Amino acid sequence: MNSARPEEVDLLLLARWVVPVVPRGEVLCDFALAVRDGRIAGLSPVDEARALWQAEEVLDLGNHALIPGLVNSHGHTPMSLLRGVADDVPLKGWLEDHIWPLEERLIGPEFVRAGAQLAMAEMIRGGTTCFADMYFFPDVVAECVTDAGMRAQLCGPVLEFPSIWAADAEEYLSKARDLCERFREHPRLHIAFGPHAPYTVSDGQLRAAAEQAADLGAPIHIHVHETAAEVEEAVRASGRRPLARLKDLGVVGPRFQCVHATQLLDEEIAMLAATDASVVHCPESNMKLASGGCRVADLLKAGVNVALGTDGAASNNDLDMFGEMRSAALLGKFVAEDAAALPAAAVLEMATINGARALGIDAETGSLEAGKWADLCAVDLGRLNTSPLYDVCSHLVYAAQSSQVSHVWCAGRPLLADGELLTLEENAVLESAARWRERVLGLR
Ligand SMILES: [Zn+2]
Repeated sequence: MNSARPEEVDLLLLARWVVPVVPRGEVLCDFALAVRDGRIAGLSPVDEARALWQAEEVLDLGNHALIPGLVNSHGHTPMSLLRGVADDVPLKGWLEDHIWPLEERLIGPEFVRAGAQLAMAEMIRGGTTCFADMYFFPDVVAECVTDAGMRAQLCGPVLEFPSIWAADAEEYLSKARDLCERFREHPRLHIAFGPHAPYTVSDGQLRAAAEQAADLGAPIHIHVHETAAEVEEAVRASGRRPLARLKDLGVVGPRFQCVHATQLLDEEIAMLAATDASVVHCPESNMKLASGGCRVADLLKAGVNVALGTDGAASNNDLDMFGEMRSAALLGKFVAEDAAALPAAAVLEMATINGARALGIDAETGSLEAGKWADLCAVDLGRLNTSPLYDVCSHLVYAAQSSQVSHVWCAGRPLLADGELLTLEENAVLESAARWRERVLGLR
């Protein structure tokens, strides 16, 4: 930029470190980031910034790292109200004996609203600006997202059996199509088709979902190969592994978000790479439910885009992407039996740009590049557990805690400032969670 007069911007952020994520591993020291109309206007060294930009507001973040807002690529926000309700049981019994019977009696717009607000408050506090969600009443979550100022991909649920959301197979699909239409122009909301899992949705329903999603350019988000038992049962019943079946039904492709994938053969990794599919890795949920370890290092080596998700708070039990990054790095090395696997910069990519790529919005968010939305997170690295500091990326993944997030912006709008939530009432969210606890206890 060579203009003699400084350009007018809305906000100028100064930070000791800026980690743009693209290019990989780059750490800019004493840098400024300018925001105009909700988007990143540019980055420059602090001592050149005042000559380049005339800002309405200047915020000096001091000993902070400014990073892209984190992208939590898989979860079930309303299930935050079931956090800790049934722990220490395997997936099948967890779902069939605990979660599903409770949900049957609880789910409705009010449950969804209260849970989504609790989840969003927690995620914003932890530096997350964008999340992918799969649950009933996505229209209610959409209202909550709009009010809270976050960015999200919401699934139109697709199931075989009737539920409070839809009476039959066709109604699930028509409601998903309607959501796509309704939010087509929304700047921060994206709709995906969300078949729950290969074992809860028929061939016909999966094929129809794939075709309709393709027509609308919408992603398909589905739990796949979550446990060895899921794969073994499918092979026993049909002679085929679920991924092969999904491939035959037209589900697998560049808009396919394959959640979990703890059971992968070499040829399945090659197939995911060849089809440009994304895997959403949920290490803490996979460890807690003893589902298995995803071969993330092999996926990355094959060129597969791997994003990171917390899964719902009922199986994690938090929505903390800093904790998730650390778990992903540690589990990734453990599974690969290689300490060099999943270096910190690669894990930071999984939590930011890879998530945006999986959701199909990497041109808009996921890194700090001029023109993208100003989805930002400021992390205070001047704390005991991040001192001394030799390597910023290393500290962000291995040492930093989500409580070190001081400020968060989404599309330039502040959602957290000096540790204070700005778009959600923290006390009201806590009181509502306590009221739902009484309801849940009354049902047990
Ligand atoms: Zn899930």
